[in-house]
Amino acid sequence: MELTDDEQKRYESYRSRARSYSQTRQWWECGYGFLLARVKRVPEIRGAWLEQGVAVHAVVEDFENSGRTLTEEVLRTKYQDAYSAMINKSLEKQPNPDMWFNSGPYKGLPQDIERRFKVGQEQVTSYLRWTEDQPEQTIWNGSVEIKFELSLGEVNVLGYIDQIVNHPKKKGPGVRDVKTGLKPTEHTQLELYALAMNELHDAGVEWGDYWLGKTGRTSRSIPLNPDRDKLVEWFGKMDEGVKAGEFRPNPGEACARCPVQMSCDYKSEA
Ligand code: SF4
Repeated sequence: MELTDDEQKRYESYRSRARSYSQTRQWWECGYGFLLARVKRVPEIRGAWLEQGVAVHAVVEDFENSGRTLTEEVLRTKYQDAYSAMINKSLEKQPNPDMWFNSGPYKGLPQDIERRFKVGQEQVTSYLRWTEDQPEQTIWNGSVEIKFELSLGEVNVLGYIDQIVNHPKKKGPGVRDVKTGLKPTEHTQLELYALAMNELHDAGVEWGDYWLGKTGRTSRSIPLNPDRDKLVEWFGKMDEGVKAGEFRPNPGEACARCPVQMSCDYKSEA
């Protein structure tokens, strides 16, 4: 692995830092993508769904921290401000339309960027309506955007949990992740959050779900029985791999949505 001085410094910092779910997921999905994006920091194709996701999360967090007192108008204005500020910054950094992902029939720049200005507002309105329809599902002990640090074997894992919630039909609190895009098909993230809440806060979490911006409601509830050994192995192998300089390419369908594909010699054309 040939690295410039700056890349070497970044690599050294990645060798020693705490691991997050997203860092670890990325390494498992394509180690080479991890290297290109985080260590080499090659130019990335941007997708306006990132700004949309961050802005919706920020507004939902503000709404819950207000005790659900913010009005629809305030929520939409907050979204507009947060999304516009982030998009403007991103456009300053990357004004080239070819470096923005299209979304379905929408050209990334400008159509998809403009469209998501509206989609995000609709999602925060949906969140408000959903809480009005489900007032009995409340935030557990003010637990919004909860930071945790958990030792898993030799690895220090750092994360933030969107929400811990009470549900009238469930035993004990559950972990809830807000998703503005597709619903996940596997639930390692929720398993990790449940383990963190149970080990660090003795919370007794046995279930979790997603609030889905695409449908405006929660997913089905997912039973959680976190397997500590499995998570120790999942994070441990990644940690060892990064320290050993293992960044294997994993060409496949995901290449079409890979932000660093333009710098990748292994990209699948399938
Ligand atoms: S284009 Fe494919 S193989 Fe290359 S870094 Fe991205 S996901 Fe990995």
